Amino acid sequence: MSTGKLRIDLDAIVANWRALDAKTAVETGAVVKADGYGLGSDYVARALYRAGARKFFVAAAEEGGKVRSAIGSDADVFVFSGHMAGDTDMIADLHLTPMLNSLDQMTRHFEALPGHPFGIQLDTGMNRLGMEWSEWSAVSSLALEQGPALVMSHLACADEPDHPMNAYQLDMFKRMTDGINVPRSLSATGGLLLGPDYHFDLTRPGIGLYGGRPFDAAHKVVQLDLPVVQVRELEEGEVVGYSNTWQAKRPSRIATVSAGYADGLLRSLSNKVRLFANGVPVQLVGRVSMDLLTIDVTDLDSVPEYLTLMGDMQGVDDLADIAGTIGYEFLTSLGARYSRHYVAN
Ligand SMILES: *Cc1c(COP(=O)(O)O)cnc(C)c1O
Repeated sequence: MSTGKLRIDLDAIVANWRALDAKTAVETGAVVKADGYGLGSDYVARALYRAGARKFFVAAAEEGGKVRSAIGSDADVFVFSGHMAGDTDMIADLHLTPMLNSLDQMTRHFEALPGHPFGIQLDTGMNRLGMEWSEWSAVSSLALEQGPALVMSHLACADEPDHPMNAYQLDMFKRMTDGINVPRSLSATGGLLLGPDYHFDLTRPGIGLYGGRPFDAAHKVVQLDLPVVQVRELEEGEVVGYSNTWQAKRPSRIATVSAGYADGLLRSLSNKVRLFANGVPVQLVGRVSMDLLTIDVTDLDSVPEYLTLMGDMQGVDDLADIAGTIGYEFLTSLGARYSRHYVAN
């Protein structure tokens, strides 16, 4: 085995979903876009379906197939990007529910698939997806006559509880939807944690399921173990890796492990991150290259077969902080070369 082992704890994902669900009195959906934040939307959706989730969300209709085959026919799969040109057959065949984002999408949907379920996405200030106030005022009665399955919007700053944008968008969402007789959803993980005012009828957590901030109480979901390919002895003064960015200040032992930036281990981790040898920290030295990392294991009595980059000692947000990014990006960058192992009891 020369590729890393990515261990994905489905029980932890289910426990995170249950813990988030327990914080609200309303239904809890599950966002499984981007292949379940890189962890496998089929495995994740199936585990959550078994735990009781019945509303799943993907970004694009193309992502719906994998989810639909994993969960069967009696749960909803909503598509954030709505009904795009060319999506009609997928939406019909996979029985997806597009979140219509504009009058154009609404027209396309009603003409192509009359009677097929749909939802409405509203823009409450983020200016990314959804109908704005004026467009919604013009088409709301027409849309409501067709019986949408869901009306939703999305918060831009929910990971900052004190940000005034949260209250602003909440107020806007209420003004756009109060009095309509349709299930409403405003919150992803961050909004769910802001409290009941933000819950409406359905929440849509993503990152919290996968163990990421801002759900600080989340169980850790991912462990990444990287195989040691080779170990070598260096004399004081020798250098390691591309551009010679690290030089041995003492006689050193360097382990070369299999994984690099092609596997999502961002090059900005160069010389900065630690791995763990059975719990003992060891420093990455030199540049991250495409397929390999070099680790200073001088202080270990013996070098194990695998070094752990991500796990109980160091989570996805710790790594994202070191790399100068966010947990979402770190997770969704994890590469295709790892062998994925799913843990579930
Ligand atoms: C990605 C996304 C979510 C999930 O967000 P998290 O922050 O991962 O919980 C919910 N709703 C929309 C519209 C999204 O794009």
